[in-house]
Amino acid sequence: MSSANLTVVEHPLIQHKLTILRDRETPTAQFRQVMREIAFVLGCEATRDLALREIEIETPLERGLFPYLDGKKLCFISILRAGNGFLDGLLDLVPSARVGHIGFERDHETLKPRNYYFKTPDQLEKRQVLLIDPMLATGGTAIAAANALKEKGAQRIKFTCLVAAPEGVDAFSAAHPDIPIIAAALDRELNDKGYIMPGLGDAGDRIYGTKN
Ligand code: URA
Repeated sequence: MSSANLTVVEHPLIQHKLTILRDRETPTAQFRQVMREIAFVLGCEATRDLALREIEIETPLERGLFPYLDGKKLCFISILRAGNGFLDGLLDLVPSARVGHIGFERDHETLKPRNYYFKTPDQLEKRQVLLIDPMLATGGTAIAAANALKEKGAQRIKFTCLVAAPEGVDAFSAAHPDIPIIAAALDRELNDKGYIMPGLGDAGDRIYGTKN
């Protein structure tokens, strides 16, 4: 499924793995492993338009021109902390990618996301940036992260998540109409506590086993 900004990847492996992640009975170790696997498959979709150039090499049989990735290395930007569970699968796919981390916490006075950590590779303006967070809920953090990346010069950004809420897609698309969103599912709605329904719960807690 695809709307202007959102692509939902309906590959059967992705849908199967997502059901395992949604299941409350899935234990932490399996959750983390399946998160890694699904990120790998979603990463294939998110990188499908990477530029190629031809290089000349010799196979064991003859010399010829063959496709090779062009330009600066890809850059993955993980939104802490749940983004890190996703990052591992993307690094399996592109081990040479550069990695950045962005951390936000809620400012109790303004109730807005406050950036407490920002560390990215340089020359973001020359890189294809993949911003990652498993859950696109209200969109507040993702919007703030994309703002910060653009301030640092990033021009080509994609946002990849596992589960998106319609509210988050609308807010993110309005704030960043130039950034495509790639997701494994568009769920029904946000509940009054800001959780995506039916969702998979708190992604960070489920990856790291921080809630019993
Ligand atoms: N963050 C999560 O981890 N889960 C949700 O459902 C919403 C935001």
